[in-house]
Amino acid sequence: MDKIWEEMHAAAEAVLNARQISEFVSAGEVSAAVLSKSGRIYTGVCIDTCSTLGICAERNAIFNMITNGEYEIARVLCIAPIEGKGAPCGACRELMVQLMPTSYKDIEIMLDYRTGKTITLGEITPEWWIDYD
Ligand SMILES: [Zn+2]
Repeated sequence: MDKIWEEMHAAAEAVLNARQISEFVSAGEVSAAVLSKSGRIYTGVCIDTCSTLGICAERNAIFNMITNGEYEIARVLCIAPIEGKGAPCGACRELMVQLMPTSYKDIEIMLDYRTGKTITLGEITPEWWIDYD
């Protein structure tokens, strides 16, 4: 595994902190790190709320990247409660496809940090409704 994945894992681990914020809001059970094309790492945690107001860690990290003026993702890593299950959900995949409609298939995703198994978004998101091929 290369050093960048290790740096991304360390960044995600640094913000991983499950906590109950109010009676209705909890956060931090899952954390994610996104590597932008420029090489910066952005992190985010999941936020769980009533009435579906929450957000996945991956999308939170992507929004953090966008907030900081970057729009291209190179890699995504998340630390989930179930080890080895690092694939992003459908909503996170949808955001990545819409953000990078001509190049989303190249985004690398860490599936299992223990084994170093990675996959591309194109491999787990074939035949999307947005497809310029
Ligand atoms: Zn998600």
